[in-house]
Amino acid sequence: MFRNARVRHTIGMNNKGVRQMNKLFFVLMFVLSACLQSDSDAVMEVEVRDTAGDSLGTATFTEHPEGVQIKLELEGIPPGPHGIHVHENPKCDPLDFTSAGEHFDPGDMEHGLMNPKGPHLGDLPNIEADDSGKVDVELILAEATLLDGKNSITKGEGTSLIIHESADDGFSQPSGNSGPRIACGVISNSAE
Ligand code: ZN
Repeated sequence: MFRNARVRHTIGMNNKGVRQMNKLFFVLMFVLSACLQSDSDAVMEVEVRDTAGDSLGTATFTEHPEGVQIKLELEGIPPGPHGIHVHENPKCDPLDFTSAGEHFDPGDMEHGLMNPKGPHLGDLPNIEADDSGKVDVELILAEATLLDGKNSITKGEGTSLIIHESADDGFSQPSGNSGPRIACGVISNSAE
């Protein structure tokens, strides 16, 4: 008898536990779907063009716990390493893209990922184009966001993504000695 009673008691606890688990599951699913919703809102695809205005492919920006993830899928880039940065103005006027301005730098830092007084928020590690001119890589723009705030690369009219002819040395001012600007894409919530 005692043993049976104990078994029923245990089953009773389990049923209550299952009901609680179900409740928790629905709450979790609700929170998860809300998160997925806001994540899909924080994705932006940017077309990257060369100095002649021809498309080289896309840069896809996604909100990430460490900043903004940038997935590059490009063709027609000269083989080898290239500096790449987020610049302060959402303007890619040919032929030299100087309209994009300086590196995005809301924290008033110096240039360079290897500079103790840096980096600019817009500084990124070099990318490498393969022998066929393709770039397929994911980068993280640390501490940046696509949402609101001081470090937002989409606030106001937005910013731009610039690829340079040469590699960024990581410390020379103001742009790591990375040479002319060869490709540009406007990062903006307002469609161009
Ligand atoms: Zn910089």
